[in-house]
Amino acid sequence: MDVAIRNHKIAAVEKDIPAAAAGKVIDASRLIVTPGLVDIHTHVYAGTGLRGAYDGDNSVYPDGFTFRSCVTTVADAGSSGWKNFRDFQDRVIDRSKTRVFAFLNIVGAGMDGKHEQDTSEMDPQAAAAMAKKYPDVIVGFKTAHFEGPEWTAVDRALQAGKLAALPIMVDFGVFRPERPYEELVSQKLRPGDISTHNYIDYIPMLDENGKVRPYLLEAQKRGVIFDVGHGGGSFVFNQAVPAIQQGFISNSISTDLHIGSMNAGMKDMTNLMSKFLNMGVPLPGVIERTTWNPAKEIRHEELGSLAVGSIADVAVLRVEKGNYGFVDSLGGRLDGHEKLVCEMTIRDGMILWDLDGLSRIPWQQRTKYVVDPKWDGLLPSRR
Ligand SMILES: [Zn+2]
Repeated sequence: MDVAIRNHKIAAVEKDIPAAAAGKVIDASRLIVTPGLVDIHTHVYAGTGLRGAYDGDNSVYPDGFTFRSCVTTVADAGSSGWKNFRDFQDRVIDRSKTRVFAFLNIVGAGMDGKHEQDTSEMDPQAAAAMAKKYPDVIVGFKTAHFEGPEWTAVDRALQAGKLAALPIMVDFGVFRPERPYEELVSQKLRPGDISTHNYIDYIPMLDENGKVRPYLLEAQKRGVIFDVGHGGGSFVFNQAVPAIQQGFISNSISTDLHIGSMNAGMKDMTNLMSKFLNMGVPLPGVIERTTWNPAKEIRHEELGSLAVGSIADVAVLRVEKGNYGFVDSLGGRLDGHEKLVCEMTIRDGMILWDLDGLSRIPWQQRTKYVVDPKWDGLLPSRR
């Protein structure tokens, strides 16, 4: 199919749209054209100067990582809380070319490393009020890294979720026998709530015979969302490979991008997608889990699709064949023969990444330096 973009929206998806009718034509034959990728677990609250904190030095500025791996939209997973969300918005969200949403931490100070165990900081009313004030940006609530034996962190996040009618995302922190993971996904979480880090090695996933435990498939069937959240320490092949072979596959594939994952096994979204490809998930399934599924999970169905009228976020990917290795969080390697490469990323109809210059002309034909503001988000203006 050809894909036509007009006024920042998808205008048509048809066979043989006449090239003469277009102001700009990009030949994407032999490439994979998909919606712009949606990564719902990232940490992008950089620039505060806080050492060792996810609302600080552990975060990255999104534009340096997103477009080059075909991502157009990210959700920050709780780096900011209801106390510092406005600072996050001013410092990063409003200044980024990447579309940034936020899961608001139930802890007021967010992930500063000092308050995540402080239950007096977990205020459902304050969190819900902030979410209602910024409904265009806040897509849910997050609890993370909680170490205590009580359900307080999860319960307060759920309370905020009920007050604001939004989903919650749970990083279960320390897995304690007093609050079993099975109870979390079977009883606590509502349909639409998200369990992230879903192939972390602490989850009781396989029984003594290596079979996926039925409660996981039942929870997924009930509508609980299982999200990858690979990160630096939250994805192991000895959980993922047998689970995927037996049909327990994450609803959404997300990176958990931060300074501890960007140069480790995770690397970036296309590398993570390549892992799933080489673990046997067919390409359409990998695309679905990085576009439409995550868009639905954060309730932004104007994204994640190439339906006519959708926002013109488009990714152009290439499947390379060769000998590759993929690394998990505990240093295990999976060998594989396919790898996805991001050729082009378009956000709102603007080209923001063009690896091989598909949108450009041979330099010999160029007579003067031209920026077309209708589609060109890539070249700097010389004015
Ligand atoms: Zn995270």
